[in-house]
Amino acid sequence: MTFKSIPKIELHTHLEGCAPPSFIKGLAAEKNIDISGIFAADGGYAFRDFDHFLQVYEAACTTLQSPEDFRRLTMAVLEETASHGVVYMESFVSPDFCGGGDLAAWRDYLAAMVDAANEAEEKLGITLRGIVTGIRHFGPDACKPAAICAVETFGSFITGYGMAGGEMAGRPGDYAYSFDMAREAGMPLTCHAGEWGGPSMVAETIRDLKVSRIGHGIGAIGDPALVEEIAEKEIVLEVCPGSNVVLKAVDGWALHPIVKLRDAGVKVTVSTDDPPFFHTTMTAEYDMLNRTFGWDEDDFKVVNETALAAAFCDDDTRARVAKRLEPAQ
Ligand SMILES: [Zn+2]
Repeated sequence: MTFKSIPKIELHTHLEGCAPPSFIKGLAAEKNIDISGIFAADGGYAFRDFDHFLQVYEAACTTLQSPEDFRRLTMAVLEETASHGVVYMESFVSPDFCGGGDLAAWRDYLAAMVDAANEAEEKLGITLRGIVTGIRHFGPDACKPAAICAVETFGSFITGYGMAGGEMAGRPGDYAYSFDMAREAGMPLTCHAGEWGGPSMVAETIRDLKVSRIGHGIGAIGDPALVEEIAEKEIVLEVCPGSNVVLKAVDGWALHPIVKLRDAGVKVTVSTDDPPFFHTTMTAEYDMLNRTFGWDEDDFKVVNETALAAAFCDDDTRARVAKRLEPAQ
């Protein structure tokens, strides 16, 4: 059984992290950049562990040097994602990788991404929205320009602010300035936490950054009171099981806490994070959830409804996407 054709929503992807390896290789060849060391013999990305993954990720990003590169990237990513039935996707986009945090440069990169997203929506029936992210391991000060870029371009395409990168760099409260700035501008917020940092990192993220969604959040499972709090506050978890398995944040699919979290009343959603890095797709995620936990179309329907309700887009977009989730007549 495969779930390839059922309409899906994913909330947690990184735009550059969705880049097909062949696309990055092509760009590297065009620009004479030697990044052959980041690829495995089978042509995929190669890395040893999470820290090495971040290095390989950033090396791949060195090929993305202009708004035109990001226009092509966005189109390549949406073609691949739409082929797995995804009808709405949110992607983390980083001003750090788009002109080094400069607002004028960021606007140019963003315009190129929006261009491609509009074209893809028309051709492929997939809607993309962007969440500006600060890169945590670059430090709190480096996240401020990203937050300024977020606030200045908050609108129909940029719909939220968040933070990605190395979770163990500093504590959530160190990054409060950027999150406060975005919140005061009315932006919805999410933050990676509890992929590596355990319950305390999730608890501090909720307390100090006041987010409505958490990227991963699976570490919360170690603290039943925290799980209860997350359920009660209706904080939505952007769970990426395949990513967790490959990066060894969990010891295999059977031990992934997504079912326990869901059974405790937590709102869970399913995403791919950086699919080619983790040898996954949305189809593969659904297939593995079916094989491991017996999730079926009814379970996925709930997951997608939860994701749509938690999406950072405006209500007109939400209504338009809702129609794509309805079974074909
Ligand atoms: Zn992520």
